[in-house]
Amino acid sequence: MVKVVLVADRAVFTDYHGADFFGFGLCMPYRLVPKFVEYRILAPEIPTVDGVRAKFAPLGLCKVEAALLSAGFKREDVAIVPPHALRRAVDKDTAVVGVHVLDPKGLAPVTWTLKVISGGGPSCTELEFENLMKSVLELKHRYGFRLVVGGPGSWQLRGWEDKYEIDVLYDGASEVTFPVVVKKLINGEEVPRYVRGESPLPEAIPLIVTPSRNGLVQITRGCPRRCKFCNPTMWRFLSIPLDHILKEVEFNLRAGLKGIGLVTEDVLLYGANGLELNPDAVKKLFSKTTQLASTYGVDVISFSHVSSASALVMKNVVKYISDLENLSDSKPLFPQIGLETGSPRIVAKYFRGKAYPWNPEDWPNIIVEAAKLFNDAYWYPCYTYIIGFPDATSEDYIKTIELLDRLRDEGFKGWAFPLLLIPMGGTLIEKEAQFLRLRMLPREAIDCMVEGWRLSLNFSETAIPKLIKIRNPLIARIMKSLAEKALEAMRIWIEGVSKGVDVIESEFSQVNIRNWGGLVKAIISH
Ligand code: SF4
Repeated sequence: MVKVVLVADRAVFTDYHGADFFGFGLCMPYRLVPKFVEYRILAPEIPTVDGVRAKFAPLGLCKVEAALLSAGFKREDVAIVPPHALRRAVDKDTAVVGVHVLDPKGLAPVTWTLKVISGGGPSCTELEFENLMKSVLELKHRYGFRLVVGGPGSWQLRGWEDKYEIDVLYDGASEVTFPVVVKKLINGEEVPRYVRGESPLPEAIPLIVTPSRNGLVQITRGCPRRCKFCNPTMWRFLSIPLDHILKEVEFNLRAGLKGIGLVTEDVLLYGANGLELNPDAVKKLFSKTTQLASTYGVDVISFSHVSSASALVMKNVVKYISDLENLSDSKPLFPQIGLETGSPRIVAKYFRGKAYPWNPEDWPNIIVEAAKLFNDAYWYPCYTYIIGFPDATSEDYIKTIELLDRLRDEGFKGWAFPLLLIPMGGTLIEKEAQFLRLRMLPREAIDCMVEGWRLSLNFSETAIPKLIKIRNPLIARIMKSLAEKALEAMRIWIEGVSKGVDVIESEFSQVNIRNWGGLVKAIISH
């Protein structure tokens, strides 16, 4: 029936009930996520249009599908299929199944950190990947198709190719190379087991033909700042042409999607020439998109990431976006931003480019000044910072604590989450880093983590009502109540860890609330 089937596991192939940040809940060990929370709230099933094709899909798969169609594949020969419809989609005519992966072995920074600090166990992301692969392999044995696995998490599967019978492990952009690989596989030709996709020219990136979940639209790829721990920076930086972006935004809105999310490593880098920023391009991006959105009754354009240095260079653009979108305390934005460290020594060694056009020693001031700018514009940052740079000293961690204290004293509104450094495949630091556990860290590193958790918890208590804007009122009520319970448990947990990390092994690792029995037991004992 369908020659090329594109699929992803349930932790990727969902719309998180319209709230993308719910995806982080799936990074938790699954023993800590009750089944009904995972399947009813965090990761609901995506509907199909005809029992097979997804009504909307993760952006990565939409891009892969568009690449195949623009390379000459017929619409009826390619289908993006949610995991629950996979068995209906695959049959004897299926030649290739492509699996898109984000975090198949639970090794992404957020997942690894959550596993370490909660006492371990496979994450929901791992569980869902295993569930999907069980079906994929059963179908592969029956029908003999070729299996290609790719996406941002493909590095985690190096060494697992035989277990999962992966014919091609694919890394990188799909537009140029992926259709060639698929054609060869269909024709029975030899294809190397590892393929790295070539970067396309921006104007050669085709438009999506399946709406993307939550209205996500990519505006840039790559990043020119060259942080050593970062993977996207290894790809050529490019900005997608504005008319292309507007067409995809409109395509999603016409399909009935109610949100617009610009996908980027730094929204203020849009249209830049390397690190030479282009304020006019960013303003035009927002003015045109807002104009278009308003005709469909959508009044917020959100975006995934921004950087502090770009914001300080383009203060007026930050304000411009805020005014254009009518942001306020009850209608804020929550961008993800890398704070990374408070130590200029670490900045100089591992991510000097992130402070550009300033110097590493300016980094703490860049963070504090940008935080004020963001908050004044009703951008409430979700900062992340890194624990475990290979040669980080107690002194470096103390500098980060001091920076977090400065933010708190300035009345900062936002979060600051510590993440353990991981040896992510394809990064410049891959060979130097290792997967860390808390016992391997000095006392100051733990204090540094606790400091960020406390700051985040305090802000969460005020921000949760603004954050949970879920369409379904019942789900919204349930989520608010669950969030309050989770915050209460977090406070107890943080105070426990602040006294010593042994409590993770002796107590937290024993908790299992996956099923009703465990949940009831935990509530009674709590
Ligand atoms: S600024 Fe962000 S996206 Fe750019 S290289 Fe650094 S970590 Fe990567």
